[in-house]
Amino acid sequence: MDKPRAPRAAKPRKGRGEGMASFDGLGVSPGIAIGPAYVHGVETPTIAECAIAPDQVDGEIKRFRAAVEVSLKQLAKLKRKTGALPPAAAEELGFLLDAHTQMLSQSRLVRGAERRIAENLAMAETAVRAETDAIAEAFEAMDDSYLAQRVQEVREVGGRLMRNLTQTPWGAFKNLPPEAIVVSEEITPADTAVMDPEKIGGFATAIGGAEGHTAIMARALGLPAVLGVAALVGAVRPGDTVIVDGGEGRVIVRPTPGALERYERKRLEFEKAERQLSRLTKLPSVSRDGASFTLMANLELPREVDQARAAGAAGVGLLRSEFLFMNRDDVPGEDEQFEQLATIVRGMEGKSVTVRTLDVGGEKLASALGDLSPGPNPALGLRAIRLSLKRPELLDAQLAAILRAGALGPVRVLVPMVATPDEMVAVREAMGRAARRLVRKGVALADPLPPLGAMIEIPGAALAADALARVCDFFALGTNDLTMYTLAIDRGDEQVAHLYNPLHPAVLRLIQFTAEAALRNRIPVSICGEIAGDPRFTALLAGLGIRELSMSPIKIPRVKSRVRALDLAAASARARAVMDESDAGRIAELVDGFNESFAKAG
Ligand code: PEP
Ligand code: MG
Repeated sequence: MDKPRAPRAAKPRKGRGEGMASFDGLGVSPGIAIGPAYVHGVETPTIAECAIAPDQVDGEIKRFRAAVEVSLKQLAKLKRKTGALPPAAAEELGFLLDAHTQMLSQSRLVRGAERRIAENLAMAETAVRAETDAIAEAFEAMDDSYLAQRVQEVREVGGRLMRNLTQTPWGAFKNLPPEAIVVSEEITPADTAVMDPEKIGGFATAIGGAEGHTAIMARALGLPAVLGVAALVGAVRPGDTVIVDGGEGRVIVRPTPGALERYERKRLEFEKAERQLSRLTKLPSVSRDGASFTLMANLELPREVDQARAAGAAGVGLLRSEFLFMNRDDVPGEDEQFEQLATIVRGMEGKSVTVRTLDVGGEKLASALGDLSPGPNPALGLRAIRLSLKRPELLDAQLAAILRAGALGPVRVLVPMVATPDEMVAVREAMGRAARRLVRKGVALADPLPPLGAMIEIPGAALAADALARVCDFFALGTNDLTMYTLAIDRGDEQVAHLYNPLHPAVLRLIQFTAEAALRNRIPVSICGEIAGDPRFTALLAGLGIRELSMSPIKIPRVKSRVRALDLAAASARARAVMDESDAGRIAELVDGFNESFAKAG
């Protein structure tokens, strides 16, 4: 290994220190979790060793270099995050990340691994492991305290390369201590899908924005979570006691007895408030002046059906079908998809289930569709319905599975990222073809065919809502993407998270325009973006004419409590005042002021 060149890298590092340390980040899922740290990603994935053939060497080196590229990008991303830290911490972490970057840039590790692939016909993973071990052993053998400190870093860099080579989720979350707090550089939505919330207390990461899918998954699983904690990397040792305050956005490592006691109390208070809210489950969602609201559940995973029922959801307003394609290398067939959907439809006991067709691409990548290229600008590329129409075999299998599930209970079909009426017409034709195929085979299916709706989440679709309404049976406003595309703010990037604002007048106008177009064309419209589950927005959305909201099941009680305290006539008047404003800050004041006044009155 070439010795890191940074002149001050030999300086002793703090970080994995002894005393209590507190970090601020984005609180994305409320609640308090206290438990031992499970430092995710430091473990190296296990691999089946096998040799490669001589004609595979070039391909294997290419694969290795791609993993190096990805690793360098990850380190650059982490380095950018240090800018948000106090100068001393930024400098400290900066040295560490620079050292890691150097180890991946024409170093002994990279050259040695490539030599092992070419000369020993080793798989890239085997080559990385062997080279990492050899460097670490050589360092350990030398009686040099500087090099001894570097051994851990060599192993961390080797582990990063291995994870990127194997492309497995960053960990299987096995053998976790009870109530574990998962601490990681990054947790992907696919990682959250394999977490067992019974075993995990909460999680904290260095990377991730509040409206990204990792945050949505955390809320779905009811796990307190703080994302975007810049200084987390290197500050926590496995087994350290960690507190995650998902409401405040704070992570406390190695708390003092006093801090521990304070947060234990806070946890009990939070749980008491949750119990009180759960008493609302059986009460109707009706405002004080008699307007009725439909509060539905967003589901990411089949296991949330129980939560949705327990929360008193009026149905499933958005089933994100991506779970069917996550953590696997093959595409699920129609039968497998049907079985999974059938469990959900039966679980909802006669309440309607809105199944969204596959929405991958952009930040949501499904490994099952292995050859999916992110393209130069993934958020604007071949994703969602564009991908489904390009790969009709995917769409046909999904539609057939949904139609079959529709024989067991009411379903609706929802199409993501719709931009033009043509796309809806194409999906309706595909649904007709799938139905005729099933009828020919004598398979039971929904009769009549299910309502077909469009997600309105592209600004152009909102502005063309009247034309779309003519070919749709319902609309679902996807305000997460709508906000992202309207303001050109990546919803998953914590660096611009402070600019992501659904209260921007442009976003509100698009919501209002869509709601009015739906009314004009007499089709139902719901909101299933994250603002639907945030009580701060309830009165405003009601005032803009929205009566259907779909949200993570755990959010339903709080939103219901808001609806029941609401006076719709007053909310409509306030919404009109809001729509007369052009300044987002003033809009926020009007919204918050109104919320305070009627919350007090209620
Ligand atoms: C949205 O964009 O608001 C939405 C509900 O869809 P997703 O978050 O899955 O992109
Ligand atoms: Mg979306």
